Amino acid sequence: MKPKIAFFDFASCEGCQLALLNCEDLLLDLLSQVELVEFREAMSETAPRYDIAFIEGSIHREQDAVRLRDIRARSTLLVAMGACACIGNVQARSNQVAPAENFRRVYGEADRNRVQIDAEYWPLWAHTRVRSVKEVVAVDYELRGCPMVADEFLMLVKALLNATTPYLPVQAVCVECKMNENECVFDQGETCMGQITYGGCKALCVTRGYRCDGCRGLLPHANLNAHRRLLREKGLSDTDIEHRYRLFRGTRA
Ligand code: SF4
Ligand code: SF4
Ligand code: SF4
Repeated sequence: MKPKIAFFDFASCEGCQLALLNCEDLLLDLLSQVELVEFREAMSETAPRYDIAFIEGSIHREQDAVRLRDIRARSTLLVAMGACACIGNVQARSNQVAPAENFRRVYGEADRNRVQIDAEYWPLWAHTRVRSVKEVVAVDYELRGCPMVADEFLMLVKALLNATTPYLPVQAVCVECKMNENECVFDQGETCMGQITYGGCKALCVTRGYRCDGCRGLLPHANLNAHRRLLREKGLSDTDIEHRYRLFRGTRA
């Protein structure tokens, strides 16, 4: 029997699922080895149990948490897929301010009774806190990045199918950046989050002429004091530094 795999989305742009669908050739190869039983982007069938459930998106409402716990209970393995699922992504920045302040920023100074907001949605504003998947259920593996790296997805699935240990790097983006022989953007007077961010993306953004903004999340052993000092030396104010940190630092900020 082929392993049953399924995909589920919560609060996300669905870009990670699209990144997967765009790898048509690799996907066809994979589909010969697994049975795809749920994938809203591509099919309407559902199934009662899964060998591997892939979760895209962050968790906002309690009904989302209930749905996620149900998926977890019916899955042998559960994988968080993409920055939304792994760290809450940019939407988790809303956790930094009180819900009432979020409401005011979106609707201005109008109070709740004077704007047209359905009672069903008010709890979103009043109680919502953005959570990563692992803040709600146990997660077996994390595929980091915004979007996730399709090669990493395939490597993980192949490793699980072969009952081997998948290699998910716990090293800074700088390691891959140096392997690509990029000139460090700090040497060009710019700043970067690569030193404190999980690698695995092959330093994509720096290699393409930008900087790392940290979408793969904060390394557990990152030296934040040294990194902040470096950013200050490059002229960033403490407010600028906080904004840079909050962009992808997510639910752990
Ligand atoms: S991680 Fe990025 S690409 Fe993936 S669903 Fe979230 S916002 Fe979209
Ligand atoms: S550009 Fe960024 S990722 Fe590359 S070496 Fe410098 S700090 Fe690290
Ligand atoms: S270089 Fe940084 S921002 Fe770009 S994909 Fe990698 S971790 Fe994300």
